[in-house]
Amino acid sequence: MLNVTPVRAFQDNYIWLIRSPDNRFAAIVDPGDARPVLQALQADNLTPVAILITHHHGDHTGGIGGLLEQYPDLAVYGPAGERIPSRTRALKEGDTVELPELGARFTVLDVPGHTAGHIAYYGEGALFCGDTVFANGCGRLFEGTAVQMHASLSKIAALPGDTLVYCAHEYTLDNIAFAKWVEPDNPDLLQREQDSKALRERGLPTVPSRLELERRTNPFLRFDESTVIRAAQKFAGRPLGAGAETFGMVRYWKDSKFD
Ligand code: ZN
Ligand code: FE
Repeated sequence: MLNVTPVRAFQDNYIWLIRSPDNRFAAIVDPGDARPVLQALQADNLTPVAILITHHHGDHTGGIGGLLEQYPDLAVYGPAGERIPSRTRALKEGDTVELPELGARFTVLDVPGHTAGHIAYYGEGALFCGDTVFANGCGRLFEGTAVQMHASLSKIAALPGDTLVYCAHEYTLDNIAFAKWVEPDNPDLLQREQDSKALRERGLPTVPSRLELERRTNPFLRFDESTVIRAAQKFAGRPLGAGAETFGMVRYWKDSKFD
């Protein structure tokens, strides 16, 4: 199993450090800000070996320059379909990232929807998915369509249930508040709310989560469940198909209700 730790940035971002088993090396996922990452590296005497970028948004890429100032030889992996500053290797579906210092290997998934070229890194029982799946939520559709995002989330939902989902933001309690409008009687969701509140009250992250829990509680992965389809139809005031149609309406519902 990977040794992964969060670096907090901005209001609610998580920059993930994937550490080698001997805790000497680390890869950095989505460094939106260099400063807290440099502090974390120095505090633990870690040598960075690579930066892994999921998409082009500034809160995921803004720290690349500052890290390269300190470590000019760092490899910068990022999506082929987006402009990523200082990218050294462009990735698309099926490509692999070998990080021998970490004893880790990741496969790249194309997961468009939040942005047009968004990718995720899957391997060693972990998924680094940026702003695609959140704990009990999903990213907003800034550049892609509901059909694209539905396909991306379906791809992720098909991974093994024990996959640890490392998303890039702490949005869980807000996401659960919305999910309760969709499935007020889902016992797993109500349990998750208790568990997540308890973690947040202690100042702890609710991320990562297990994919199997997302499948039971995350309305954006439950577009084929009759409870979710019925709730989306009630909101829409018209019949909806399972899958992309229901997903799109649930996404629209959250956009119109919250943030
Ligand atoms: Zn984003
Ligand atoms: Fe973000």
